[in-house]
Amino acid sequence: MNSLILTIRMQEERPNREMRYSNGDITIVWKPWLCIHSTRCWKELPAVFHPLQRPWITPMSANTEEIIQQVSQCPSGALSIEKSK
Ligand code: SF4
Repeated sequence: MNSLILTIRMQEERPNREMRYSNGDITIVWKPWLCIHSTRCWKELPAVFHPLQRPWITPMSANTEEIIQQVSQCPSGALSIEKSK
């Protein structure tokens, strides 16, 4: 499926609240209203970010350092990390 179709699908199902996905060490926070659908997260770390599945973020599918690195590349600020205490 091409990027345009995936982007349309993400926009259609965009929740109007913050979404949180934890692996125990960290929580990935996604703010849908900030996402500009750059496709960067799911093209560069598809084990964790996969817009056709629900939940679309599965933080157990990569190690914490890989996830932190990928989230830091989000160009819009839609993705951020909270570390567990
Ligand atoms: S990298 Fe950020 S802006 Fe791009 S699709 Fe992922 S969440 Fe949205």
